[in-house]
Amino acid sequence: MDVLDCIVIGGGPAGLSASLTLGRARRKIALFDDGTNRSRVTQASHGFITQDGIKPKEFKETALKELENYPTVSYFKETVTEIIKASANERFTVKSSTGKELVAEKIVLATGIHERFSIPKIREFYGKSLFSCPFCDGWEQRDKPLVVIAEKEEHILHLTKMVYNWSQDLVALTNGNPLSKEGQLELKKHDIKIITEKIKDLIGNDGYLEKIELENGESIKRSGGFVAPSYYRPNHFAEALGCELDEEGIVKTDHVGRTSQKNVYIAGETERSKPASIMISAAKGNKTAVSVITDIIMERF
Ligand SMILES: Cc1cc2nc3c(=O)[nH]c(=O)nc-3n(C[C@H](O)[C@H](O)[C@H](O)COP(=O)(O)OP(=O)(O)OC[C@H]3O[C@@H](n4cnc5c(N)ncnc54)[C@H](O)[C@@H]3O)c2cc1C
Repeated sequence: MDVLDCIVIGGGPAGLSASLTLGRARRKIALFDDGTNRSRVTQASHGFITQDGIKPKEFKETALKELENYPTVSYFKETVTEIIKASANERFTVKSSTGKELVAEKIVLATGIHERFSIPKIREFYGKSLFSCPFCDGWEQRDKPLVVIAEKEEHILHLTKMVYNWSQDLVALTNGNPLSKEGQLELKKHDIKIITEKIKDLIGNDGYLEKIELENGESIKRSGGFVAPSYYRPNHFAEALGCELDEEGIVKTDHVGRTSQKNVYIAGETERSKPASIMISAAKGNKTAVSVITDIIMERF
């Protein structure tokens, strides 16, 4: 079987950018992506200079089109189900959901992260009228009547203060969780309404929020807002390959994409298990690809 230089798993901004850099360095690679990128729920992505407001689908299509210029890059729209390493990490067999098996010398994990919401119904509004990142979507929500939903005190305080930069018509909802007197004072001095009552339901149309119903029967009209999900890596590839993790379960790296395991690299949001942006993920993909290429060149020279 032909041995590739590298297999990139995940074709979000991180994996696409890594693939471009690898292709331009004449590396024979395969890119796998199954279309579950985080931004697929949004109408438009903002803040990437020259691409401000681009549709996530268009971003991916343009990137894949650019990769076609590099004949050593192959793209597979498939889910990777398993990565098997040979002893001493010299070879990796990557298996996909269609039964494909490819072998490579190096692996880049760029599979992103997923959100977990304490109120599952948030997902119906997420990306259309509820968002998590004010830098991404604050401008479009500016001056609107917004809600901030977060359960932990540090999260509700931080997110509400941040969102206040874009709209001062704010209601902070803790969904039944307490908020300290000091915390309440901090928000109240800016006329922000704080509600610690449990949320019963979110009501709206086609992803656009109209009101929030509380357990006590009260309802609050809001056109959108910001939420604080928790995040997790969607697979255990890093664990299965033996990558060292820190006490929070984050993959340890040398900050330019190399993990503790020889020939296993990581890029994008999955690297820190934290949300970033398309620009930061793309930059991380580029950095990681540079590490892969440098290692290949030095090892073979
Ligand atoms: C509602 C919302 C709005 C946002 N708005 C903006 C914005 O305006 N501006 C901005 O800069 N950022 C925005 N973001 C954040 C942005 O989407 C992320 O920062 C970015 O997508 C992270 O890139 P990534 O490559 O690390 O991960 P992802 O984009 O999540 O890509 C990971 C890829 O890995 C693939 N994958 C996962 N597992 C497998 C597998 N087993 N086999 C094959 N493929 C696999 C997935 O299909 C996916 O395409 C937004 C996010 C959300 C949720």
